[in-house]
This record gives sequence, C-alpha cells and structure tokens, in this order.
Amino acid sequence: MQGAIGILGGTFDPIHLGHLRLAQEVAETLALTEVRFIPGGTPPHRATPQSPAADRVAMVTLAIAGNPLFVLDDRETRRVGKSYTFDTLSALRAELGVTRPLVLMMGADAFLGFESWHRWQDIFALAHIAVAHRPGSALGEMPAALAREFTQRRSSDAQAVHGAAAGVIVEVPITALDISATQVRELVRERRSVRYLLAPEVLAYIKDNHLFLQENKS
Ligand code: ATP
Repeated sequence: MQGAIGILGGTFDPIHLGHLRLAQEVAETLALTEVRFIPGGTPPHRATPQSPAADRVAMVTLAIAGNPLFVLDDRETRRVGKSYTFDTLSALRAELGVTRPLVLMMGADAFLGFESWHRWQDIFALAHIAVAHRPGSALGEMPAALAREFTQRRSSDAQAVHGAAAGVIVEVPITALDISATQVRELVRERRSVRYLLAPEVLAYIKDNHLFLQENKS
C-alpha cells in the first residue's frame, strides 16, 4: 500500500500557526507521507470568507514553502460555486486509487459539527478522520448519530490508518495553540501586532496587501 495522505481543508483566512502545527503533528503521529492543504472556495458551513481566494491561496503557499511534507491543492478555489468535502474527497479518491489511505484532518471543534456536513456518513467510505484536540474543545458531548459512528469507528492505535484506505477515526493530541483566524483578523483591524501567531511570510503578505483592515461586511 502506498503512503497515507493527509488532507487539511479550511478557509485559511489567514493560515496561522495553529493550522501548521495541527498538520505537522498529525502527520508525524500518523506517519503520513504528505499533507495537502485545500483552501475552500465558497464554504457551505460558514459566512463567505473575507479575503479573495487568490490571497488565501497565496498565504497558504507562503506558509508551507520549504516543508517537504506540505503541498497546496487549490482545486476548491478553482471551482465555481460551493465546494463540499465529500466531492473533493471523491475526486481525490478517483485520482489516487481505492487502496491509498486518505486521512481527513480536523480540529475537535470541526468534528463536533461534522453531522452538518454534506453526505457526512458517506465520507467514511472515502477517508479516515483524524480529530486533533484543539484548546477549549476537547471531544465531549457529541450529537447521537455522530457518537454512534465515533464509537464504532474509533481506534486507539494511530497506525490503524495504514491498515485500510478509509473509515477509521483516530484522536490525535496536539500542542494547544489557541489561535484562530478570527482573532488574527480582529488584531489586524485594531492595528495590533499578530507577530508570533503566523508565519513571518504571511505576516508580510497581510501588510503588503493591506488585508483585514476593514470590518467584514459579508
Ligand atoms: P476562523 O476563526 O475564521 O473560523 P479558524 O482559525 O478556525 O478560522 P479554519 O480555516 O476555519 O480556521 O480551520 C481549518 C481547520 O483547522 C479546522 O479543522 C479547525 O478545527 C482547525 N484549526 C483551526 N485553528 C486551530 C488551532 N489553533 N489548533 C488546532 N486546530 C485548528
């Protein structure tokens, strides 16, 4: 079986150190050969992102440069209309074959809302899920249907993702970095420093392109 590929979708408006440590630590714990960062186009689950896709893609490109594990996949921003994770994973599955393990990474906050995702139960046939514990949202109360899937599918063995192409849920503890893109945007708008929350190259891009200085009207 070829190496397992991690997938981290997000708005990345902007990408910050919380995202990068999530990807790095989950990749190391699960022995992934690659992590694909997939910035969303028009995300179905949240308000329209403030920054155009081109800026979000540029920031991801700058943030992951030089890390041999990390790859940008901009397919969702190139599509017109809404991008569903189910569709993106179906396309990846078609490209990469049926035996290649795919691992969809997400923070615990995202996993707790997973039931609201388009065709969420079908996603288990396409990928494993790695739930990273994010500060302030340990896996607690889950909606009933999600709790049932979690109980059936969870494995305490991180290497279980290599034994099948999809369908296992693993929890991965990661360094708690209580950073959110929302917080970064607010700090920039208030003309406060965001140093040490972001890759320096992303910080420079935000400054050069005058991002986040206005309140989001969307
Ligand atoms: P926003 O504040 O705009 O909602 P965000 O910082 O939560 O953005 P997203 O792009 O929505 O970032 O998140 C993409 C993925 O990264 C999600 O699965 C989310 O759970 C995870 N994530 C975001 N921030 C962190 C963090 N600080 N630690 C661990 N995981 C994170």
